[in-house]
Amino acid sequence: MEVIIADNPAFCYGVERAYNLAKEQSGSRIFTWGPLIHNPQIVAELTALGIQRIDSLEDLHNGDTVIIRAHGISDKTKQKLENKEITVLDGTCPFVTKAHLIADNFVKQGLHLVIIGDKEHPEIRGIYEDFPEAIVIKNLNDVAALNFELSSKKNLGIICQTTIKARDVERILDQIKTKNPNITFENTICNATHAKQSAAEDLAKKVDCMLIIGGKNSNNTKMLHEVCQKHCTSYLISDIEEIRSGWFDYCEKVGITGGASTPLWLIEKLKNRLIDL
Ligand code: SF4
Repeated sequence: MEVIIADNPAFCYGVERAYNLAKEQSGSRIFTWGPLIHNPQIVAELTALGIQRIDSLEDLHNGDTVIIRAHGISDKTKQKLENKEITVLDGTCPFVTKAHLIADNFVKQGLHLVIIGDKEHPEIRGIYEDFPEAIVIKNLNDVAALNFELSSKKNLGIICQTTIKARDVERILDQIKTKNPNITFENTICNATHAKQSAAEDLAKKVDCMLIIGGKNSNNTKMLHEVCQKHCTSYLISDIEEIRSGWFDYCEKVGITGGASTPLWLIEKLKNRLIDL
């Protein structure tokens, strides 16, 4: 069985940056604000190094260090952290910061902010907390349900979650335009997401089966799975132990990729395990 690794299979730029920032720290009482990235192996690695996740301002003591996760936080929460006697290190991915700044700019221009993305995702929560009047749209059903909200606003300023699928955004935008044609749209999908998705899709067309390894709470990992499923049998796993040899009974070629939070060593380990089957 031939095992092929997709291009761009592991950490994206923003995750690598946040991970390196955390690994550079030394001393006690170092925390990440929420999980630094959506990957169980990396969160476990940081925990073993004494870098714990924290979610409450009340649990912080003077002198603590807090690293802001790659998905960012609201300006309001950041300000609260900075008002404490602690060191705040910003691991927010620059692409997330850019989306936040565009949202701010739209609101200052008098546009009504619309965010295409998942309200429960930390990246969108961070923006929404600063702009609670924003309309958040996850799918086409939301466009129909929010008909009045969309059509009653004069001008809409639209951004999207950095890890969303470009095709979904196009479809949602087309539907929004039927409710309100006065839109200004800034595509805030990051290049890393696009590059990973197209590399995974290209490989999925050439193999019998794809394995996508990454955190099951990682949005971009789930998107990679969806993209690959259109072309071949695809499995989403968070750990190598989840693979079953029966999956590959009639496979000559198996492809591998991983989410933006998946370390390269895990991809290599998966490849070696498949070769040994
Ligand atoms: S997926 Fe894109 S936006 Fe998210 S952390 Fe990586 S580079 Fe940044």
